[in-house]
Amino acid sequence: MLLEIENLLRLQDADKEIRRLQDEIAELPKRVAAIEHKLADTKAGLEKAQAAIKTDEAARRKYDTAITDLRSKISKYRDQSLDVKTNEQYKALLHEIQFAEKEIAATEDKILELMLNADTRDKEVKAAQAELKEETAEIEKEKADARERTAEDQKQLAEWRAKRDQMRAGVNEDLLRHYERVSKFRGSGIAEVLDHKCMGCQVMLRPQTYNDVRTGQQTVLCDSCQRVLYFNPAHEMQALEPEHKRARRHHPKIDAPQAWYYRQEFGEAGEVFLCLANAGGQASRRVFDMHTGRLVGDILIREGDYRHAFPEDITGAIRLNGSWTEHEMENWGTEMPMTALDSLHVDLEAAQYEMKSRASAKSETPAPASPQHAAS
Ligand SMILES: [Zn+2]
Repeated sequence: MLLEIENLLRLQDADKEIRRLQDEIAELPKRVAAIEHKLADTKAGLEKAQAAIKTDEAARRKYDTAITDLRSKISKYRDQSLDVKTNEQYKALLHEIQFAEKEIAATEDKILELMLNADTRDKEVKAAQAELKEETAEIEKEKADARERTAEDQKQLAEWRAKRDQMRAGVNEDLLRHYERVSKFRGSGIAEVLDHKCMGCQVMLRPQTYNDVRTGQQTVLCDSCQRVLYFNPAHEMQALEPEHKRARRHHPKIDAPQAWYYRQEFGEAGEVFLCLANAGGQASRRVFDMHTGRLVGDILIREGDYRHAFPEDITGAIRLNGSWTEHEMENWGTEMPMTALDSLHVDLEAAQYEMKSRASAKSETPAPASPQHAAS
């Protein structure tokens, strides 16, 4: 990986951390404010309950006075009834007395109702007071926590800012400007390439762009999102690994008209991929450099099928999955495309993984297993 890219990645980490700290510092007063809001609600509830009690008490006093007044009226009517001259006058006074008595009874009912209400109001007030006490304690604790946290965050922020300034010095000015511009608009200025895609915008790269990123000789930008691209072979392997760990590897057919092999050594060429194919009673052999995908030497043609024509190439080689038409391969010219090369690498990786796990399974359980061939 380019040193510039490594510096940018470190810079991005610093930027992320700085943003996280800033967000956290901004978030803390909001949390305190939310509890304060709740506290104000509880306070208002308490005041309302207390006001209701006062209103009830005033009503109670009013009713008590009314009853006293009515009683004195009744006694006045009774006194008057002793002096009346006519039966009509007496009846009228009796009627007034009955009326006042009814009113007293009704007022007493209202007082009873108030007394029942007072119990509920009391409970409401006590509950609100308890809640207020709890929330007050909570907010004091929250405020203290926030102060402490903010101080710690501010300290870390200052450290990260210093680190960032140092990191910026390690990146080329033009690249830095570009990175910061894209970061500002897109939230990040650098993106990994995985499985031929820019992980920043999920757009497939052109083969040339992909090759440039993989070789890591120059800084490459994503055509679609403008992020600086980088490639990490370890991640690419990790991304591919779970696939062949989960699913069983598909095994190539023994009698396929075209067969791909991996050989660890092939004369001076070193590690190669071989493509053996049968066509029209003849067998052909293509040899590709396994790292560059370049065709090594000429295409060799022999009589008969490839098993009999090239037995020395097959012995000790690992059989791989791969199938391209004669026409496709002619179009490749002297170099197979990165997609084909990658798929062979992935399958080789899977085949080697399979062989390794089979070998370790055998050494763990020495019971005779049925004969299996990873390579043939
Ligand atoms: Zn992109």
